[in-house]
Order: sequence, then structure tokens, then C-alpha cells
Amino acid sequence: MNAHTKIPDFQMDLHKNPVPEAERNRLMESLGFGKVFTDHMITIRWTAEEGWHDAKVTARKPLEIDPASAVLHYAQEIFEGMKAYRADDGRILLFRPEQNARRFNLSAERMAMPTMPEELFVKAVETLVSVDKAWVPSGDASLYLRPFMFANEAFLGVRPSNEYLFCIIASPVGAYFKGGSKAVTLWVETHFTRAANGGTGAAKCGGNYAASLVAQAEAYKHQCDQVVFLDAAEHRYIEELGGMNVFFVMTDGTIVTPPLKGTILPGITRSSVIDLARDRGMKVEERPYTFEEWQKDATSGRLQECFACGTAAVLAGIGTVKHEGGEFKIGHGETGDFTTALREQLVGIQKGASNDERGWSH
Ligand code: PMP
Repeated sequence: MNAHTKIPDFQMDLHKNPVPEAERNRLMESLGFGKVFTDHMITIRWTAEEGWHDAKVTARKPLEIDPASAVLHYAQEIFEGMKAYRADDGRILLFRPEQNARRFNLSAERMAMPTMPEELFVKAVETLVSVDKAWVPSGDASLYLRPFMFANEAFLGVRPSNEYLFCIIASPVGAYFKGGSKAVTLWVETHFTRAANGGTGAAKCGGNYAASLVAQAEAYKHQCDQVVFLDAAEHRYIEELGGMNVFFVMTDGTIVTPPLKGTILPGITRSSVIDLARDRGMKVEERPYTFEEWQKDATSGRLQECFACGTAAVLAGIGTVKHEGGEFKIGHGETGDFTTALREQLVGIQKGASNDERGWSH
């Protein structure tokens, strides 16, 4: 093993004044998304000379970075999103964390950043969850984990940085959509696109999200929960939502979802849904699907239900679709039975309650 693949030990410098239990319980009573944070964080440094080193658990605190730090100028930054769940028997479970480690490295490669041994990524996540285990809520809530890495060399030249900081912070979260399991309303964006062929769409980099914000704001303006992006070349094909993948369930037992061609994020929920749907005897087609087909299939009744999926919301039924030219409903505009059943199965696996044949729970 060279310096770049060695797994460093974590230096533990625990919080001197963690949030008192009563205050923590009060904070955990009304959780939204990403507003409350745990006591600790993980940091690991990378330099060209030393590789990954200086791994620490410390109190969560502001980072001091140089105003010339490369990330502030050229946005060399990537992140992950995953959750720790509290099972009914008290165990704390992660869902397919090695998949997040793998995707993190794919994002790193695309952004000319160093990769991290998967083992180190998973160990870092486990270490933070274990130190902040009192913050893992029970019931429908969970502890959202946000690993991220950014270029941290004080240098204004345009080239990959020679220094990086990897961090993990954690946030107990409740339901992602305020309406609970009520079907969501989407806005189809026909002007702004998210990712072009050859671009960074498949990487989980901050820049993709910065570029999506005007479209998301447009969605909110039209009282929609999320935006649907179309492809950048023809503005015809459905790609994905601002922060979720999308599935179309047909009455004939076929499920369609846009293919992974480099312009959409390879969701871990997406891949899990494909496996579970196939187990149920559904035929899953990963193929291009146009906005026009979507409207036609919704109108003809061929489309039985539609759902969005991702770590934050698990599965969310799509009820209404709005666009420049009007709007249409999927079925009766409510979350469908297939969506509900698959959501329950997946949540069951994540929380250690359902049969976990593939060993996804960690
Ligand atoms: N697409 C985008 C753009 C996302 O941000 C996310 C959330 N990570 C997803 C899809 C779903 O991915 P996952 O199932 O791994 O959370």
C-alpha cells in the first residue's frame, strides 16, 4: 500500500460541550430536512505528497479556508447523501454504504479529484454515526449523512488542486416532502437543462445543483414540489428531477426509467428499485422516454402510476405534472399501490424489518 491507499486511524477529539439530552430531544421533535446538525464531524486531508492523512473526529465547527481556496473559484467539489436508520430493536443500520463510496469515487474521477479507498469512506461514515449515535432518530425519521470533498489549495490557476479536504457532517431529518405520502406535483422545465452529453450530470458535484436552482425556483413559482429536467440536446427526453430519479409504471407490467448515459445521477435507490421491481415480476426497461410519450400515456391510461425516488424521499408518488402548455394528472392524481408497496418494502429493508435477501443493510 502506498500513501494514497493507506487507511489512517481516526484521532478522536470529542466535543467538550455536546448538546444536552433534553435540548437534543426537543430539536428532534420537529425535524424538517437539513436544519439540525449533530455534535461532531469528520475531516480527512489529502495532499499530493501524503495522500489521505490527518483523519479526525472533532466538534462540528466552522471551517477556516483561505479566500484563494480553489473550491471558491472553480467549484471543484463533490458530495454524497446517505442515511443511518434506527431499527425497532435499536440497531443502527446503513443502506448500501459501499455504493455511496463507489459513486463518490466516480464523481471524484470526473472532477479530477483524488479517489478514496472505499473502506476508508465506509469507516469514516461508521465512525461519525457511532460517535453521534444518540442523534439517530427512530420511527420515520433518520440521520442524513453528508460526506463531501473540496479543493482546498490556495491557488488561482485553473488546474486540479493539490490539496483536498474530505468532511462528513450529519443531520437528523424527517420527511422530505411536507405532504408525507401525498403525491407530489412536478414542473417540467423546457428551457433550462441540467446536464449535457460529456458533461458532469452523472457526478454528484455541487455545480450541477447550482445550475438547477433557477429551474427549481420556477417549479416553486408554479406551486410544484420538484422540477423535471429534459435532455440538453433536443429538450424532448425525460432525464430526472432536481434531486431524484423517475419511474413510469405501465398497466401491462412494464416499468420505464431513463437510462444511465452520463447525464443523470446513477441513484442507489434507482438501482435498488430496479432489482425489487424485477423480483416482483415486472419488466424494467431502462430506455429513453419522451415528454410527449409521457403525456400520451397519461391521457390514454396506459400509464398506471409514476414515482420519484432517492435517499431523501425514498419513493414519492407523482400525482400532477405541470408545464408551460398546461397540466395533466397521473391516474387519479394520487400515490399508486405499486409505489406504496415498493416504498414499504424498501423502508422495511432500510430499517431492518423486511427480508433483506441481498444483504443491503449494513
Ligand atoms: N438524482 C439526483 C440529481 C440526486 O441528487 C439524487 C439524490 N442523491 C438522486 C437522483 C437519487 O440518488 P440516490 O437514490 O442515490 O439518493
